[in-house]
Amino acid sequence: MTFATLGLIEPLLRALETLGYQTPTPVQAQAIPAVLAGRDLMAAAQTGTGKTAGFALPLLQLLTMEGPKVAANSARALILCPTRELAEQVHASVAEYAQHLPLTTYAVYGGVSINPQMMKLRKGVDILVATPGRLIDLFRQNALKLNQLQTLVLDEADRMLDLGFSEELANIYRMLPKKRQTLLFSATFSDDIRLLAGQMLNDPLSIEVSPRNVAANTVKQWVVPVDKKRKPELFVHLMRKGRWKQVLVFAKTRNGVDALVDKLQGLGINADGIHGDKPQATRQRALDRFKASEVQILVATDVAARGLDIEDLPLVVNFDLPIVAEDYIHRIGRTGRAGNTGEAISLVCADEVNMLSAIEMLTRQTLTRKMEADFEPEHRVPDTDASGQVVKKPKKPKKPKTSGGGGKRNLGKWVDSGEVAPAEPSIKPVRKVPVFNTGPRKKK
Ligand code: AMP
Repeated sequence: MTFATLGLIEPLLRALETLGYQTPTPVQAQAIPAVLAGRDLMAAAQTGTGKTAGFALPLLQLLTMEGPKVAANSARALILCPTRELAEQVHASVAEYAQHLPLTTYAVYGGVSINPQMMKLRKGVDILVATPGRLIDLFRQNALKLNQLQTLVLDEADRMLDLGFSEELANIYRMLPKKRQTLLFSATFSDDIRLLAGQMLNDPLSIEVSPRNVAANTVKQWVVPVDKKRKPELFVHLMRKGRWKQVLVFAKTRNGVDALVDKLQGLGINADGIHGDKPQATRQRALDRFKASEVQILVATDVAARGLDIEDLPLVVNFDLPIVAEDYIHRIGRTGRAGNTGEAISLVCADEVNMLSAIEMLTRQTLTRKMEADFEPEHRVPDTDASGQVVKKPKKPKKPKTSGGGGKRNLGKWVDSGEVAPAEPSIKPVRKVPVFNTGPRKKK
């Protein structure tokens, strides 16, 4: 199969040739004809699958072939992204694909002055890439009208919900024309995403290019158990031992990023960090330097690293496991892209066992553990498996208590199973009632 057989027009084929894309990826092979035929789309495609071209190429073609010229302060297609970095990256790809087409493209996001964006929108743009908050600001200030909108793309929709944009999405939904084409891309499909899709999409075609919620199998993944306080030391040890050249490292918090960068720089290692507290220009500069291999180790929080696309990134290290299991898939999606192989190493301490278990359940695999000599943890990381169970050592059967015995009473003490042990063997445990909102109560 070629891009020509998918029905793409010559200016797009020429752009793809320049970029060296020879064969459509599976998501492109499925999405391009469906979008060209005007269908709504619900696509389970993780980052690295070529999803951007999957929606951008047919979108550019439709905008070139159909519809009126863009009006002032209007957009004909809107691509919503969770973060500034992803917006920038998607825009860069769209602009490359559109290089031989008479279409205008632009990206807007927060963290930078709104005025130049308002000026730029005056003439209207064919394709606008935006983060939700800034889009709403521009709309409310009358810098943008959406009545000419033909197509809406929700890129990394799961991430938008994770970042708390559901209210913004509901607001944007009210701003959109009823008649439009909508394409939703998400790495994972939670119930909330399905709910969103139910509202936003009209008879969508579902495409799924890798088994749902399963991380790319081109990435070799393993876990090194270690005590929390020894993680920095282990990282440096592994880095030297493995002669790591270019590594993207994920830490849980902004402070965690700063602390690790300080430690590495203190050892003379060429490291930099990106997180949400840093100005956009500083973040972009760090990314650019990392991409240009001027920085060896880039330490990032999940939000800051979203959308980062680096060709052939060989290694991702989870210095901390992510709190949200889906983020693990996004993180390791930074390596093993477009068919390359990559490695993802997670440094895991005993505190993180529940996160490890959630990741294994989501990705339906038990991650291999490799103990590093001299770093064996004092606090053992309990065994886990893909069933989502933290495997605990079998408990010794309890001896029945005799009443009146002189020993201490077991009064409401936490025991291994996570249940509160009854104070006396004769008292039945209270049945736990799940606290769900079961809808409006019936009036009596
Ligand atoms: P994405 O999943 O959209 O972030 O794309 C991942 C990477 O694959 C990007 O660097 C794209 O430029 C590249 N890519 C996308 N489609 C193709 C293709 N058909 N052939 C080669 N590379 C591609």
